[in-house]
Amino acid sequence: MSNDPSPSSASWTDDAESYLRIAGGLCDVSRLRTKDGWYWQLAAWALAIISFGRLPRRLFLQDYASVLGPIQAYPRQWDEIPRPLVVHEVRHTRQFLFAGWFVPILGWLGKRSRVWAGVLPVGLVYILFPLPMFFAWGRFRLELDADSYSWRVSLDRGWMTAESVQARARQLGEAISSWAYLKAWPRSWAIAACERRAENVIRDWQRRHAAELARYFPP
Ligand SMILES: [Zn+2]
Repeated sequence: MSNDPSPSSASWTDDAESYLRIAGGLCDVSRLRTKDGWYWQLAAWALAIISFGRLPRRLFLQDYASVLGPIQAYPRQWDEIPRPLVVHEVRHTRQFLFAGWFVPILGWLGKRSRVWAGVLPVGLVYILFPLPMFFAWGRFRLELDADSYSWRVSLDRGWMTAESVQARARQLGEAISSWAYLKAWPRSWAIAACERRAENVIRDWQRRHAAELARYFPP
């Protein structure tokens, strides 16, 4: 997921505790890291090659957050991380945790082992299912799932409004169909699906909100 904070000398790592509180509260195996690790460098090279240079290394390393199992990695030079983005990345870790159940033995040894076991099934679905590009349904669905979870949590916590969710949904549809996600899904389909999901999430939230109000202020 992309972000575009202005570069400055401050780093989100100065405030890592507060981000970890959000991430850990939603999924307790979450670990927050910077994108300095060698494996991220390697992934950046691979993505640049696969995308014929349309997803440059710099973009992947400096403008995008990425998740592998429990590790949620953000560029060190970001001065802060938008909270909805933290929630989006946490959801990816939860996807790994869920998929880990499908890996015999390793996936059944407890959460810490399961979240790593999930790397293989999630990786296959995310990268290859059914095609690596243009019709990467798995990647499209996993991203939509992560973002709509983030809308739900962010609406509940007052970090997003219905209008900002609608705007974000369109942005996500455009991002998923761009080179940033290796053209995972046709543009108009992606935008329509994201907008539809946003309306559902907003409607659910309004319903929950109304039920909550009715509980405290019975008619
Ligand atoms: Zn994502």
